[in-house]
Amino acid sequence: MSTDTSGDSAASASSAGSPGRSVVVLDDELFLAHVAPPEHPECGERLLAVREGLARALHSLGEGYGYARPPVPDATAEQLARVHDPAHIEQLGHLAGRASFLESDTYLSAGSVPAAHRAAGAAVALVDALIDGAASHSRGFALPRPPGHHALADRAMGFCLLNNVAVAAAHARARGRQRVLVLDWDVHHGNGTEAIFYDDPSVLFVSLHQYPCYPGTGADRDVGNGNGRGKTVNLPLPPGGSDALYEAAFSRIVLPIIEQFSPDFALVSCGFDAHARDPLASMELSSTAYGQMTRSLLGVLRQDCPLGVVLEGGYDLQALAESSEAVAKALFDAPPQTSTTGSVPLSAPADAALRQVQRVQAPYWKVD
Ligand SMILES: [Zn+2]
Repeated sequence: MSTDTSGDSAASASSAGSPGRSVVVLDDELFLAHVAPPEHPECGERLLAVREGLARALHSLGEGYGYARPPVPDATAEQLARVHDPAHIEQLGHLAGRASFLESDTYLSAGSVPAAHRAAGAAVALVDALIDGAASHSRGFALPRPPGHHALADRAMGFCLLNNVAVAAAHARARGRQRVLVLDWDVHHGNGTEAIFYDDPSVLFVSLHQYPCYPGTGADRDVGNGNGRGKTVNLPLPPGGSDALYEAAFSRIVLPIIEQFSPDFALVSCGFDAHARDPLASMELSSTAYGQMTRSLLGVLRQDCPLGVVLEGGYDLQALAESSEAVAKALFDAPPQTSTTGSVPLSAPADAALRQVQRVQAPYWKVD
């Protein structure tokens, strides 16, 4: 069973007869069983900060708003095998209960493998809750640890053991959804998710990331392969990117493409490491920008398209709490805070990066 955090006793906003809606949250104590080595940035305190942000969102919204918290099962072998090679799942199984490193920065603690299976299960449960739930449950936030978007079909990578958002996208397809969006605004390129769906026209992968940066992939020319050509949209952005750059990227490229794709299920790979406070990257987003991106996305989704947000990276605790609060408020349709970025002009390299993506994507989408 998932466990409640503070301040969110209402199971359903609709039952409270309020104007608010209920947002589904997938969280589990097992996510804290993935225990970081000393000084490692991907630590359990990150999850506590996100929980704090979600609680603050409810507190500031007032009565009538609540999180629905379905139980989180482990992902099944069948659900994992849709995106992962059996050998990778087997190898992880053999490592359960042991502390080790799979690569220089990707650690395993004794509880990491069970946590990873539960984390992927949260992604599956998110999809199920949004497809099976009432209309008031059409938005959700899953908080898996370890994160997922660097994990490849056949191996762990970049703090990630299993690719949670890819497992979710594949589950949405298995549940009959025809066009699944994965919008990845983690500051690092979601190389694992891209690779898993690179040939697949039914999954649109859109990634905004600092470039160059870890893991080195995500060039604008990488647009998908075979029938999947045009269904990978990479926006490699120069360091120092501000709220204004992300706003321009959304209005010129991201939102028009999503609107044309017209997804019937939408997922966000929601890293908070493009935040100005983040220690691992060099972008300059504010906390409110994350709420604004969520609102902008909701603005182009069809009424019947659920939105599931899946936690990825983000390594500053204050930024995590503030930004997850902003995302949660947006999921509840709370009005935005006044933007302070206004009409800040883009730097020449930032504008050039967007123009280049528009050129590369022009054969596949109307992005002028
Ligand atoms: Zn990241």
